[in-house]
Amino acid sequence: MDGTPKADLAGLRRLPAVDQVLKSPLALAAAERFGRAETTTAVRAALEEARATLKSGAAEPEDADGLASRALAALEAKARPSLAPVFNLTGTVLHTNLGRALLAEEAIAAATAAMRSAVALEYDLDSGKRGERDDHVRDLLCRLTGAEDATVVNNNAAAVLLVLNSLAAERDSIVSRGELIEIGGAFRMPDIMARAGTRLVEVGTTNRTHPKDYRSALSPETGLLVKVHTSNYRIEGFTAEVAPKDLAAIAREADVPLFNDLGSGTLADLAAHGLVHEPTVRESVLEGADIVTFSGDKLLGGPQAGFIVGRRDLIAAINRNPMKRALRVDKIRLAALEATLKLYLDPDRLAQRLPTLRLLTRTADDMAAQAARMAPMVAARLGDTFRVETRACKSQIGSGALPLETLPSTALALIPADGSGRRLSALADALRRLPVPVIGRVEDQALIFDLRCLEDEAGLAATLAHLELSDGTV
Ligand SMILES: *Cc1c(COP(=O)(O)O)cnc(C)c1O
Repeated sequence: MDGTPKADLAGLRRLPAVDQVLKSPLALAAAERFGRAETTTAVRAALEEARATLKSGAAEPEDADGLASRALAALEAKARPSLAPVFNLTGTVLHTNLGRALLAEEAIAAATAAMRSAVALEYDLDSGKRGERDDHVRDLLCRLTGAEDATVVNNNAAAVLLVLNSLAAERDSIVSRGELIEIGGAFRMPDIMARAGTRLVEVGTTNRTHPKDYRSALSPETGLLVKVHTSNYRIEGFTAEVAPKDLAAIAREADVPLFNDLGSGTLADLAAHGLVHEPTVRESVLEGADIVTFSGDKLLGGPQAGFIVGRRDLIAAINRNPMKRALRVDKIRLAALEATLKLYLDPDRLAQRLPTLRLLTRTADDMAAQAARMAPMVAARLGDTFRVETRACKSQIGSGALPLETLPSTALALIPADGSGRRLSALADALRRLPVPVIGRVEDQALIFDLRCLEDEAGLAATLAHLELSDGTV
């Protein structure tokens, strides 16, 4: 005997049958949206749940409408995309875990058009003959960087792998010990080199590397001189590195190509936009690098991609590598890349049209005014359990670009009135469960909404309207 009381058994008998629930108006609407099969499965699950609740001693059995409503809610929850939009209020503009750069409207339109129709991806419309997918961005890249030739692959990690494998397989790649970096996500320069089939030759020491270190490592076995932009850390104090220009001279003397992995790289002079200078790709080419690689979705502000620009003969060798085919980009991204690169042809309007630059260059006044607009709304949503303060804070560029540079920004600080850490984490949880989740950061006993990346104020207000804390305070 399981000791089930008689009253509950009667309740079980009074539960409607699957077919009966499926005839209710809500279930019919659900079937219209999600299909009969999925709706039937959801109704069965709702009934199963109702049975379990009754067995555990619950009161009244649910009726057909109640069960259909629960099935519909479950179907709606399941239908919500897993890769859904969120509000990035972390203050990190290029947040790798939140998808890095937001694309410009021009890029979104181009990608959408490419998705919807056939495109001349590898088809030369002038001659009617076969074309190359790089044709769509080659001239633009050459114009914007001053390089002779260019190609595009899946991301910068792929670009580095492909360059090393194409130009230095079974030969030496000479790198300074101070540049053997880990970028995160298991991308470590020595490991990538091993997988690319090149022999890593480390020169110098962690803090100091001199021209003579490179010179004495050169041999007939040398395939490449490699320079890696240490974008995500900085060594300070007693340091020395060989400037790209001097390294280029050493490479030329030895008749070995110089490869510079710029990491983020940028096509625009950030100093002209009031930001800290980051080496531009054009500078790197001018300084004599034979091959330069950089990312599409870091400072450049486009979709994920890896660019390889440089000497024509070397790009041709890279394009002959069969690995290129495994690393290529699709038409959607190429369309978005082309549109993004074109924005750089009009530097005057770049900061307006390219979201990455627009967010990085927001003024203190602009964000302070926004904080004044948003604070009362957020405070009203949170009631008495939280205090909302406007605070100065520091944003980051992110993705390893200029990691030590912070940008002065403005935040709303949501502070539990009773100082409870539990309440703070309950709030963070509730914010993550909103229809459009809101991601802030916890700092100094407060939840910080850095406003730098907030453009859709009405959207934030709309999602916060659904806020419910588990302790019922909101
Ligand atoms: C970010 C970075 C990479 C990897 O670029 P992805 O586009 O993320 O693949 C490689 N090298 C350096 C120096 C970087 O900063």
